[in-house]
Amino acid sequence: MTDRTITIDVGTDLFGANEEAAAQNAELFNQYGIRTVDIMGSVGTGKTQLIETLCEDLHDKYQILMVAGDLATTIDADRVASHGVDTVQINTGTACHLDARMLRVALNDIELSKYQLVFIENVGNLICPAGYSLGVDKKIVVVSVTEGPYMVKKHPLTIKRADLVVINKIDLAEALEFDIGALETDVREVDANIPVFRVSSKTGEGIDALVEALGL
Ligand code: MG
Ligand code: ZN
Repeated sequence: MTDRTITIDVGTDLFGANEEAAAQNAELFNQYGIRTVDIMGSVGTGKTQLIETLCEDLHDKYQILMVAGDLATTIDADRVASHGVDTVQINTGTACHLDARMLRVALNDIELSKYQLVFIENVGNLICPAGYSLGVDKKIVVVSVTEGPYMVKKHPLTIKRADLVVINKIDLAEALEFDIGALETDVREVDANIPVFRVSSKTGEGIDALVEALGL
């Protein structure tokens, strides 16, 4: 089970000064030499499974903390915790994204010196999480072959604000007759230079290349 659950009461004050709070978070992570990755994507795109697979791959090398953002429940944090990784759940209530101040509050009682790597699972939606800086090193957008062909075309700003794109669940592409190449072309039309990784979090295919690209 997850170690702790933070419930955030979102007042209007939380939406001010996000960039400033993000800079403070970045400074805090820097101070402890902690690498940070924010994972964004719709509900059902496989963000949690991606984090589980990355944790399996990396928990011998790094002390990892996973921060899970969700409207309610600790389902995702519990899944990651089952791999022996420390977790913090942020329940946002009505907020459809994490912001820098929520992250800061969640980290308040955490002994950060214990950790070298933080994975943040953002609230499941592909729209506003990209608009709120958290103060992390890398922002990953996860899309998957189960969401239909237009996820990238419909969310260009999210792609623009990300550092990496993961196309997840490639093990299902053939069965669904999903054209991964076309989806990758859509990404390229938004950002010609953003790295794109074809991954199956289930089989582990493509994970090594992603880990390398993250510098982990
Ligand atoms: Mg999840
Ligand atoms: Zn939102």
